[in-house]
Amino acid sequence: MNKYMEDTKGGLLHTYNQFPVVLDRGEGVYLYDTEGKPYLDFAAGYAVCSLGYGNKEVNDAIKNQIDKLMHTSNLYYNTVCGEAALKVCKASGMDRVFFTNSGGEANEGALKAARKYAYKKGTGRYEFIAMRESFHGRSFGAVSVTGHDSYREPFEPLVPGVQFAEFNDLDSVKALVTDKTCAIILEPLQGEGGINLATPEFMQGIRDICDKEGILMICDEVQCGVGRTGAMFCWQKLGVKPDIMCMAKAIGSGFPVGAFAMTEAVAEYSLEPGDHGTTYGGNPMACAAVSATLEIMERDNIPQHAAEIGEYLAAKLDQMAASNPAVLGRKGTGLMQGITIDTEICGASGAVANKALEKGLLVIGAGADVIRFVPPLVIEKEHVDEMVEILNACL
Ligand SMILES: *Cc1c(COP(=O)(O)O)cnc(C)c1O
Repeated sequence: MNKYMEDTKGGLLHTYNQFPVVLDRGEGVYLYDTEGKPYLDFAAGYAVCSLGYGNKEVNDAIKNQIDKLMHTSNLYYNTVCGEAALKVCKASGMDRVFFTNSGGEANEGALKAARKYAYKKGTGRYEFIAMRESFHGRSFGAVSVTGHDSYREPFEPLVPGVQFAEFNDLDSVKALVTDKTCAIILEPLQGEGGINLATPEFMQGIRDICDKEGILMICDEVQCGVGRTGAMFCWQKLGVKPDIMCMAKAIGSGFPVGAFAMTEAVAEYSLEPGDHGTTYGGNPMACAAVSATLEIMERDNIPQHAAEIGEYLAAKLDQMAASNPAVLGRKGTGLMQGITIDTEICGASGAVANKALEKGLLVIGAGADVIRFVPPLVIEKEHVDEMVEILNACL
C-alpha cells in the first residue's frame, strides 16, 4: 500500500472499497498518482469530469467567483444564479430549476415536487412507481425509489408508497398504476443497474400513461445527462419529454452541484416558498461552474463529439465481443457504454478494474458482470484504442 495512504487512511469511515492508488493530479483525460504514473481515465470520477481535468475556462470561472463572492444564501439574488438557471432551462427544455448539492438531493427534491403537485391539485395521489435495477441516490427518499434490495434493506422501513416495475416492460408498469399513483421515476439510461438504455417505445408508453392518468414523469439524468449520450439530455435523444428531471454529476464539471427542473405546468402547482430549501445549493461558485460548463458544452458541440467517439467506441467494443471469449456483449450509447463479461473467465468487474489499474487504465463496474465506460467526453479515438488494448490484456 502507498505510504501516504497508510499514514492517513485511519480517519475515514470505511464506506468504500477503494482502489490501492493515491491520485494526485489530472490533466486532460489522464490522472496521475503520487509517483507520477499516468492513468487513462474511463471513469471520469463517476461520469462527472466530462470536460476532462484542468479545463482552464471552468477553473477560472470558479476561481474568479471565489474572489468575488463565495456564498450569500438563497434569500438573496446574486449575479450568477439566474444566469445559470436560464442556461439549464435552455439545455434541458425545462422551465424552472432548483439547484442542489448532489444528485441524491436532486431526486429528493423531484419526489417532493411531485407530491406537492398532487397535494395542491387535491388528487390524493402519493405513490411512486420506480424501476428495478434503478439507482437514485443514498438519502432516504432516493434510496426508497432505488431498485436494489442491498441498498435498501439495512435501512428499512423506507418512504412508503413505492412500487417497482421491470425496466423496458410497459405491462409491468401498467400493472402497478392506481388512482393513487403520483409519479413514475426512471433513468432513461440506467447507470448503476448495468447500463440499460430505455427504448423509445418504453419512454413513450410511460408518457402516454402519465398523460392519460394525470401522473408526473420524472427522469433521473444525473449520470446520463449533460451531453454523455450524444444529446444534451438523454430524453431528447429518445424523443420523450418528462415533467420533472434531475441532473448533477457532469453539470458542474466536478464542482458539487445538482438540480431538479420542471415544466411551467408542474411548477405552477408545485413547490412554493417555505416548501423546500438548501443552504448551499446553487451558491455562486456552483452556479459559476454550471454556467461555464454549459457554455463550453454548447459552444464546442461536446454532445456531438460524444456521439462520434461513442460510435467509434461501440464499434471497438463490438469487435472485442466478437473476438474475446470473456466479452459477452455491449450495451449503452454515446460515451455511456458497458460490456457484459463472463466472470468465470475473467473474474468480476472489480477484479478486472484492479488489473486495469495496474496497467494504467481506470474503469469501473456496473454490477459484477458489467464493465462501464464513462470517460471524459473530450476523449479522442486514440484514447479508445489505448483503452481497448489495455482492457483486452486484462480479460
Ligand atoms: C450518481 C447518481 C445519483 C446520486 O448522485 P449523488 O451526487 O451521489 O447523490 C442519482 N442518480 C443517478 C442516476 C446517479 O448515477
